[in-house]
Amino acid sequence: MTMVKTRPLSAEPVAREARPVYEIERLAKTYARNSLTALTDVNLTLRKGEFVSVIGSSGCGKSTLLKIMAGLLPPTRGRVVLEGQPVLGPRPDIGMMFQQATLLPWKTTVENIVLPIEIRSGRGAAKAAMARARDLLQLVGLGEFGNVYPGELSGGMAQRAAICRMLIADPAVLLLDEPFSALDELTRDFMNMELQRICMERQATAFLVTHSLAEAVILSDRILVMQARPGRIVEDVPIDLPRPRTLEMINTPRFGEIVAHIRNLLGREAFA
Ligand code: ADP
Ligand code: MG
Repeated sequence: MTMVKTRPLSAEPVAREARPVYEIERLAKTYARNSLTALTDVNLTLRKGEFVSVIGSSGCGKSTLLKIMAGLLPPTRGRVVLEGQPVLGPRPDIGMMFQQATLLPWKTTVENIVLPIEIRSGRGAAKAAMARARDLLQLVGLGEFGNVYPGELSGGMAQRAAICRMLIADPAVLLLDEPFSALDELTRDFMNMELQRICMERQATAFLVTHSLAEAVILSDRILVMQARPGRIVEDVPIDLPRPRTLEMINTPRFGEIVAHIRNLLGREAFA
């Protein structure tokens, strides 16, 4: 197969000069239980406003990396620094989202969104954050749904509520672990475009774990390609498609070239 040379970043000056938000150096993780080396020598800088995805086959260490970045799991070696402060545990300036929205069924949408604030700072603070929660619901197109219970929301709506819950504390960075992979394809396309819009509006710094190549390419300024055993980043691919991205870009030759290049890097293991 021919390797496609990626052209230099031109349409997106964001990444190059912006200040670093996350700095990760020489990260390694070995799980003690089974002596499994999940990650080795991961180095990574995320800059303000950048959207970076990590892609790789199942089991290559993507979730391990994200959990360490979130402070949910200690690394065996290496350093994780966010906004100049080492990450030693969960922090309010880290927003997270997972495959399942995990909304509490006995709380309304708006109550679910302020839940992180209630847990951290109590009921008074949560109450004070309600107006902000309603603004966020407007932002994701759920303005009418603040007072309903999660049972009345579709999968895509529940994930939009989860986006609001992630944004309520105005985090410095968004960590997303396959947030839309449980949704049907059409909803997923739509949510990807919504996520782009929200990130552009807020100049958010985002880190997305996915195993969908198309999703990674359409959303990202850069894609980190991982390989397994041991999990490591093998290439950092800049995505030079202009912004805002549209779903129509999926049919352009350039999109196809980038996908082919990354598929090549992933090798056969990713599709076994
Ligand atoms: P991915 O998210 O890319 O699918 P993970 O980070 O979840 O991969 O897992 C990387 C490797 O580490 C896998 O081989 C997995 O089985 C192993 N692993 C993940 N979590 C644990 C754990 N808590 N204890 C032992 N091994 C684990
Ligand atoms: Mg995972």
